[in-house]
Amino acid sequence: MRIEIPRAHPRYQSLMIREKLVEGFEKGLVVPQGLIAHGRGECFDYIIGEKTIEPALKAMRAAAAALLLAKHPVVSVNGNVAALVPEEVVRLAKASNAKIEVNLFYRTEERVKRIAEVLKLHGAEEVLGVDDATATIPELFSERRKVSPRGIYVADVVLVALEDGDRTEALRKMGKTVIAIDLNPLSRTSLAASITIVDNVVRALPKLTEFVEEMKNEPRGYLEEVLKGYSNAKVISEVLDYINRRLRELSERIHEKVWSPGEP
Ligand code: ATP
Repeated sequence: MRIEIPRAHPRYQSLMIREKLVEGFEKGLVVPQGLIAHGRGECFDYIIGEKTIEPALKAMRAAAAALLLAKHPVVSVNGNVAALVPEEVVRLAKASNAKIEVNLFYRTEERVKRIAEVLKLHGAEEVLGVDDATATIPELFSERRKVSPRGIYVADVVLVALEDGDRTEALRKMGKTVIAIDLNPLSRTSLAASITIVDNVVRALPKLTEFVEEMKNEPRGYLEEVLKGYSNAKVISEVLDYINRRLRELSERIHEKVWSPGEP
């Protein structure tokens, strides 16, 4: 059942995202576990103020450099990503010359096909990981180990969103640069990735595409410098400092009764 959410509702954006996920669930793109995973993300989004914060912009700049320098970049797509941002996945892949591959923890051939269909409906010319998930990521025991030999298996840079830590670690062990979009700065994925964008995938993907488009004509030397100057540990610690500062400020404002939910 669909509900009408008035635009003026203070939680409008967040509720619209939920509606999209529920719709994705009803269409067989999202699994129930995906809905729960989203709830974990929402909690962190509330804490960062539901906006793209400075350390995320730093990570996006490095991520754009990594994508533009890559020989075989791949954007990995799961059910939540397909339900929330199918068009943005296609735009990012086009801007960065990346392949798109479906990769699911709870893999069924039916769900893989539905996700690929949605991506194609939004302009994807090719979607890997459907009939060709014949290669295996070593040391990984979930269904996520099945990948395309033309996609994630040979990729040098893989972008993942709402990922689990085991797969991120396995991809790193294979020598790949992993770009993660994850609202939880403390998740195993965030800590294991090469570049972690702590932001909602709904905001992060379009912004990252903008960075890619802006930096596309920069010389390789410049992009290499951007990457060299990037430290993921430093950026994650900046996210935690940001959260710390914000919670302190909120604590004072709530004490003085000058803050209510929805305000910055
Ligand atoms: P890990 O194994 O990395 O410690 P986990 O067990 O939390 O992580 P999952 O539940 O599979 O892994 O992943 C969901 C992750 O995605 C969570 O860290 C959650 O914060 C994050 N997340 C959920 N919704 C979003 C969203 N819309 N945008 C970005 N990140 C999100």
